[in-house]
Amino acid sequence: MPPKWIDISVPLKTGMVQWPGDPAARFTRVMDIGRGDDYTALLLEMSVHTGTHMDAPAHVIRNGKTLDAMPPDAGVGPARVIAIRDRESIKLDELSHQQIRRGERILFKTRNSTRCWQSDRFFADFVSISADAARYLAERQVRLVGIDYLSVGGLKKDGRETHLALLSAGIWIIEGLNLSQVKAGPVELLCLPLKLTNADGAPARALVRQRRKTRS
Ligand SMILES: [Zn+2]
Repeated sequence: MPPKWIDISVPLKTGMVQWPGDPAARFTRVMDIGRGDDYTALLLEMSVHTGTHMDAPAHVIRNGKTLDAMPPDAGVGPARVIAIRDRESIKLDELSHQQIRRGERILFKTRNSTRCWQSDRFFADFVSISADAARYLAERQVRLVGIDYLSVGGLKKDGRETHLALLSAGIWIIEGLNLSQVKAGPVELLCLPLKLTNADGAPARALVRQRRKTRS
């Protein structure tokens, strides 16, 4: 039996956690057969940086690529889940032992996965990628980086620097993953963002399935 696909995206709903300052996500039934309408239809109001989503260079770089320019296979293929022990941030020390290779898709599983998604409140002290570690990933020319909370960079520290380091190196970013059900190691990733025109980001559905360890 092939391994099962594990859904690593978070549910979208009214009142869900948001990045501070982003408008609240709201999902409204504008038509409802329960109210006597002919059909039911939901209206979505949300920032593209809500829940599980991808960031494009245009998020922090003027005239940067928008998400519709992303080759779909950036988010589809072999990836590696790296478990991070540090409770504060992903630092160069911890990463430098990981033998990160060019072209890899890396998903960071931190304590965010089990801690932050249990609640609709925002955790300001979530584990993020330090600017140094982001520059290291850029040097290594990884293809994609995923993180298990709402931003690759911290709220008060390295927010812009980390985004810039990754996005200016052409690395595609997934934010808002829940990796609590996934073990560290090789996986197959399936992450497809919505094809929004000229968007700096887009909501995505992301799945992984565990692969047997192989050396390539
Ligand atoms: Zn984002």
